[in-house]
Amino acid sequence: MTDKPQFIRLLGDERRVANTLAGVSKHWQGDKECFLFISPHDDDVVLGGGLLMQLAQLENVPVYIMIVTDGAMGYCSNEEKDTISQIRQAETFECYQSLGIPKENIFWLGFPDCQLKLYTGRRAADKNEKAVYQGFTGLQNAFTYFLRKTRPTQCFLPTPTDLHPDHKIVHEEFLISVFHASGNIWPELGKPLEKTPYFNEMAVYCDFPTQPQLQMKTPMSFLEKKLQAIGAFRSQRQIESLIKIVRNAGPYEYMRSVDYNFYNPDNYKVRFKEDHSIGYMHR
Ligand SMILES: [Zn+2]
Repeated sequence: MTDKPQFIRLLGDERRVANTLAGVSKHWQGDKECFLFISPHDDDVVLGGGLLMQLAQLENVPVYIMIVTDGAMGYCSNEEKDTISQIRQAETFECYQSLGIPKENIFWLGFPDCQLKLYTGRRAADKNEKAVYQGFTGLQNAFTYFLRKTRPTQCFLPTPTDLHPDHKIVHEEFLISVFHASGNIWPELGKPLEKTPYFNEMAVYCDFPTQPQLQMKTPMSFLEKKLQAIGAFRSQRQIESLIKIVRNAGPYEYMRSVDYNFYNPDNYKVRFKEDHSIGYMHR
């Protein structure tokens, strides 16, 4: 049994195996690589990607984490009702710093928990508004701002199959923000990205929408560190059952890369060609 990490990526009929992520990646950009994890709630990305965060550092890839909501609805006792957000913020920094992520790479956006529907898009901020960047609020505003600030080559976030509406909204708003960030609009939010980052999904609560292509296996010590990091979220008592699942599954994580599938009329021409359509009719 090896104590090195193992990566397996399935690409069509090809099965790539290596001890590094660079070794199984088609578009690895060397020392330009930079990962951004997007966490609807504070604990989501450590559950889905706590091993990958450690693996990235082995390959000298900087890791940024963006926590979208303020966790204000996650109280499990009346005493914590008014203070839960500060408690969770402290737990967040403890958790991710214990995985080697520097404090300045962890962004707490502070959008109101369970109210993300009210923050889709972008609008000029009123007085006392939450999550204001350059005079505007809204998820697309914040995501574009932080994408241009961190300039990731790859982004990792929970699948849209999770039942929590905050997860679905973050997925949808982030995907369009990747394109805002790569274009010339909203110049006050920073310089456009030179290259659109790759988009990867991690499973947290529900299965992947289609099969993941990447499996990561680490030495057991990485799993122990991940479990300890998850344990920092002491205020989240419901997390116990998740810790059990993570422990029982062993040191494995999976990622699904999402293709953007841009429309190009050329993709459809062959289908309507005369000789092709004859064949099609007979099938
Ligand atoms: Zn969540």
